[in-house]
Amino acid sequence: MTTNKHLMKTYAPLEVTFERGEGAYLWDTNNQQYLDALSGIAVCGLGHAHPAVTKTICEQAAKLLHTSNLYQIDKQQHLAGQLCEISNLHRVFFSNSGAEANEAAIKIARLYGRNNKIDNPAIIVMENSFHGRTMATLSATGNRKVQAGFEPLVQGFIRAPYNNVDAIKNIAENNKNVVAILVEPIQGEGGIKIPDKNYLNQLREICDQQNWLLMLDEIQTGMGRTGEWFAFQHNKIQPDVMTLAKALGNGVPIGACLTNEKAGNVFQPGNHGSTFGGNPLMCATASTVIDTIKTEKLIANAKKMGDYIANTFTNKFAKLEGVREVRNMGLMIGIVLDNDQVNGECSELVKMALDKNLLINVTAGNVIRLLPPLIISQQQADTIIDKISELVSRVLIKKEAA
Ligand SMILES: *Cc1c(COP(=O)(O)O)cnc(C)c1O
Repeated sequence: MTTNKHLMKTYAPLEVTFERGEGAYLWDTNNQQYLDALSGIAVCGLGHAHPAVTKTICEQAAKLLHTSNLYQIDKQQHLAGQLCEISNLHRVFFSNSGAEANEAAIKIARLYGRNNKIDNPAIIVMENSFHGRTMATLSATGNRKVQAGFEPLVQGFIRAPYNNVDAIKNIAENNKNVVAILVEPIQGEGGIKIPDKNYLNQLREICDQQNWLLMLDEIQTGMGRTGEWFAFQHNKIQPDVMTLAKALGNGVPIGACLTNEKAGNVFQPGNHGSTFGGNPLMCATASTVIDTIKTEKLIANAKKMGDYIANTFTNKFAKLEGVREVRNMGLMIGIVLDNDQVNGECSELVKMALDKNLLINVTAGNVIRLLPPLIISQQQADTIIDKISELVSRVLIKKEAA
């Protein structure tokens, strides 16, 4: 028997341990099968134990794991080339996590400011945002729960409401220290909040006028999940900086900070680094992830299945007063429940789903968040739809009866 007693209490895990996985399914230590509609929080886009990923990991592990960035790493150079090709960006720094990718972006913005004679550089960040748990990224995060107790926070962030262009224009007029905007194209932890269609285009315009960097946190939205490689591609704009992690390695820890030419020349030798960042094992794996997304046409599947799931929910829930809205872009799906109607039972839904062998998540208090793997089939999508519909009705009926 193993226990949690020697682990720090950073998480309160559910009473289940998974032993193995295959595709969209996981099996627990009692050999019970579960359908995974969360993908380890948008990490396992290709599903579990994808044979191509397993093969690359085994072959690379048998050859070479690590050398350090003091030497050329061909696997890293190859992956950087692939990432630049699909994003139309120019340079990449590799890290081991999303927070670290954002740390790199924040440091680039500050140095970019200094190079432009702004001695006290500030970055605009949004209310309700999530950028990570390191000191700088939790300071950038727009959620008091993430920050509380860890003051003094890192300085140099200006908070603005999400999806509000006037607020940004107002800051531009009143603050000459701004060097960049850091924003999620869709707020993931914040509740699958999708901004107005031309929001990113307008931010791009302001950044151009002000000579600010537009820095997109695509850690959750990236790697095909929204029905494009990256969410910004729906807007036909280019960011100056973009951060990735989660699905990039399908489960091996890798993050990346990508830049265009302008922002890519800010870091010089000595300005930044990472011991593990971009090691051969992580990079070879991520290259296989990109190849597999292409060969299996998974971006098209994400779009098709995402719209299918969301549209079916929208129709099914049309008459249910307790469901406020269904939001999606590809396979980032949020079902917004009316807090009063479900009477604080939103988080209970995660446990109820687990009892029905389905893995889901609830975020922002009242939003069921679904992040199924990009490989999801029509039949698996139907299973998700049936189980969730039943659970939501059950929670709402219970409330009516009470
Ligand atoms: C998960 C996430 C992060 C943090 O990534 P870690 O790998 O946990 O450090 C940052 N930004 C967004 C949008 C995320 O979803």
